Amino acid sequence: MRKNKQSNYRCSFCGRDKSEALILIAGIEGHICEVCVEQATEIVEEELYDGGKKRKEQKSDFRLPEQITPQQIKEHLDQYVIGQDDAKKYLSVAVYNHYKRLRQHLGDEIEIEKSNVLFVGQTGTGKTLLAKTIAKFLNVPFAIVDATVFTEAGYVGEDVESILSRLLQVCDYNVAAAERGIVYIDEIDKIARKGDNPSITRDVSGEGVQQAMLKMLEGTDVNVPPQGGRKHPEQKLVKVNTQNILFICGGAFDGIEKIIARRINTQVIGFGHGQREEIDREHLLQYINHRDLKSYGLIPELIGRLPVLTYLEPLDQESLKSILTEPKNSLVKQYSKLFELEGIELNFTDDAIDFIATKALEYNLGARGLRSICEAIMTDAMFELPSQNNVSTFVVSSEYAADKLSNSKLGKLKAA
Ligand code: ADP
Repeated sequence: MRKNKQSNYRCSFCGRDKSEALILIAGIEGHICEVCVEQATEIVEEELYDGGKKRKEQKSDFRLPEQITPQQIKEHLDQYVIGQDDAKKYLSVAVYNHYKRLRQHLGDEIEIEKSNVLFVGQTGTGKTLLAKTIAKFLNVPFAIVDATVFTEAGYVGEDVESILSRLLQVCDYNVAAAERGIVYIDEIDKIARKGDNPSITRDVSGEGVQQAMLKMLEGTDVNVPPQGGRKHPEQKLVKVNTQNILFICGGAFDGIEKIIARRINTQVIGFGHGQREEIDREHLLQYINHRDLKSYGLIPELIGRLPVLTYLEPLDQESLKSILTEPKNSLVKQYSKLFELEGIELNFTDDAIDFIATKALEYNLGARGLRSICEAIMTDAMFELPSQNNVSTFVVSSEYAADKLSNSKLGKLKAA
């Protein structure tokens, strides 16, 4: 909108001519004068606020399931996420408690505290998938943000408040709905304080952002720029209360195993002999605790606001094979569906599944690699088969897969 200086315009609401009004603001269809703006503001305030201060309850379209147990939540997760039993169990309990919190009557003396979650695990192990699946199950708004784009206020980049802009956007600015949503903050490890000595490394992108996130995670009124970022400095801020928003943070925390190992070694020496054998050194992540995160560079206050800490194992060959075939919308099922729509029955041999999983392990991208490998293998068939009439079945063997992969960009990239 802009001020209009021409005198032949009138206010579309009261009919005042430009000469009678101090300001006429132009919209797409017409104009509005300053008197009508004031009146409209009064009406809005009366409708939305009590006594000019408190926002009246906005209706939310989101309904939570009536009766659920942590076990049912986990069973639901099992349909989509392979393995990662510990993470699923912790998440199910956290979400169950969060859900009870949402239903808790205001005024109860004992207020259940929020159980924000922190996932530690390599890339492509299912952290985002878990968060996404749980949000869908609960039918609440869900937003994914990346912690690396945030900086302290005053620096180039986005303010942490814009985390909530994404959430508002996914639920069409329904504040009440956003206030019971779930936010997944990815790459939280990237805002760790660099270096071991906190006093000499006060870096802008790390600790400052952690500090800025504290209040939001705990639960407070946050003034959110509805469109996010700093590109629209004129935008009116929307107040969002984060008390009932569940934050799930995730990060790979590269190298944290070393910190865990160091701590365990010290502990074991402290306790004397006998315990050393019981430690599974292949899977150190399962022993992660809040102290390790502090050593890694998260500030204690932030760690305190992420009380549910759990881990995701790197995926082995067997898990990768299961991911290809088992989940409700597994890649193999998706391709089969695509071919079925063409009237073609698609089959992967066991060897082909083995081959794809082996390659994904080689690429070291967790389950993320599966998708690009499958695309490289299947693209030719998806290109050619729709124009061939008499094909009713198509089998992907390991030889076919190996041939297509080695001729693809991906295969050549790897070979180079
Ligand atoms: P990240 O841990 O990096 O957040 P994602 O959850 O985004 O990884 O996983 C990337 C993709 O890999 C997902 O879309 C999903 O298809 C697949 N995937 C990863 N882990 C699993 C898993 N444990 N079970 C099923 N699929 C998985």
